[in-house]
Amino acid sequence: MIPITSFAGLDVAIFGLGASGNATALALMAGGARVAAWDDSDIGRSAAEKAGIPLADLMTENWARFAALVLAPGVPFTHPEPHWTVTKAQGAQVEVIGDVELFGRERAAVCPEAPFIAITGTNGKSTTTALIAHILRESGRDVQLGGNIGFPVLTLDPLTPERYFVVECSSFQIDLAPTIKPSVAALLNITPDHLDRHGTMENYARVKEHLVAGADKFAIVVDDDWTRAIAKRHAGSGAEILTVSTRDTADVTFSGSRIFFRKEPVADLAGIDSLRGRHNGENAAAAYAALRLSGLSDGEIVPHFATYPGLVHRMEQVARLQHVIFINDSKATNAESTETALATWPRGIHVILGGKAKEGGIESLRPYFPRIAKAYLIGAASDDFAKSLGDDVPFEACGTMDVAVARATEAALGSGPAEAVVLLSPACASFDQYKNFEERGEHFRRLVTAELARRRAP
Ligand code: ADP
Repeated sequence: MIPITSFAGLDVAIFGLGASGNATALALMAGGARVAAWDDSDIGRSAAEKAGIPLADLMTENWARFAALVLAPGVPFTHPEPHWTVTKAQGAQVEVIGDVELFGRERAAVCPEAPFIAITGTNGKSTTTALIAHILRESGRDVQLGGNIGFPVLTLDPLTPERYFVVECSSFQIDLAPTIKPSVAALLNITPDHLDRHGTMENYARVKEHLVAGADKFAIVVDDDWTRAIAKRHAGSGAEILTVSTRDTADVTFSGSRIFFRKEPVADLAGIDSLRGRHNGENAAAAYAALRLSGLSDGEIVPHFATYPGLVHRMEQVARLQHVIFINDSKATNAESTETALATWPRGIHVILGGKAKEGGIESLRPYFPRIAKAYLIGAASDDFAKSLGDDVPFEACGTMDVAVARATEAALGSGPAEAVVLLSPACASFDQYKNFEERGEHFRRLVTAELARRRAP
């Protein structure tokens, strides 16, 4: 745990008692603050109480006594409308912040030398964060990994000058971190997402920009209009910047399977299963840039791409049988993510699609339809997706995952000899049939394992 001392002796309100809210309360208490925590749900409140966190009904509290409100990142700050705790805090001139802000302030106060690498972007955050942490660890550094991935930032081990903090930051977390100042930041991409929480694309992009604006050094992928404009605005600002691109000239580029630094080839990702696809080329190039900015040499970075184990549910290879590979990309909950998966193989893709669709469905995937050998539709989106596929792609309405896995396996194994892929990349949220994308991915993995065991049995 990282005790937060900047509120010692003061009263702090906390709203939202999930993992990060509880960690925040305990870290503030350990640093000497008096906390008053609350959540709308009984379950959240009773779990916090069991952990020894003092509860207070913030609806009836006198807000004048609070030095700050710490909000969980899932609670609306500005849009669609401020949460009632935000309104009360602002009415009493109480600042509203999040756990990443507390971390940043503590670091600035007690250990500003501790390397703090912060990663954001609409897509690829977790992959890039995990890859950076992996390479630092393999090169012998003391590393803590957390934030929007894995463990909440305040549960990490205490700050020391040699310890690297690699922190994934969602836009919600940055929005609640007004003075965030990482030693190195990475911004991957900005595409429409979470607009219900940020109002407009301009606001959303502004929040993402705030992370790099505070950084001493940053890596920025300049492959979309929003990030390109940000890079331009900060050129000459005094920050050390490395631009990254998979399309144009930049300091760090990804082309074919190779990463180039100022036109010199430095790494080849060919054959690294955990970094398949151009999107992972982008993530790896951004990780390379962030690590260079952190002072690592090529010799410390490059050999460790090959041992990156990858993250579950993101283009995760779960099995191979004969010429067929089985890929779990359950995290692809929108068409954009599925597009990156389909872009990975030129043909022979047996893709399982469906669930609870996002607006626009799979229409944007049309240019990739020729790569799909067959689609297997599941869940609530089946009828809509069938309409989009029409006569252009062979498809089968399977209803459920077990049918889809059996049918796709059958067809892919029968397709040889060229490599074929059974790909779960549903372009949908999972809530119509599963609790979350993790449960959906685990189900796929179990079904594939059982299916292959059956086929391998004499
Ligand atoms: P995040 O943490 O931002 O959600 P992840 O690293 O978990 O991102 O990847 C989630 C999905 O997003 C992946 O399965 C992949 O389909 C897609 N993706 C990953 N990296 C990128 C990228 N750089 N650009 C576009 N899409 C990506």
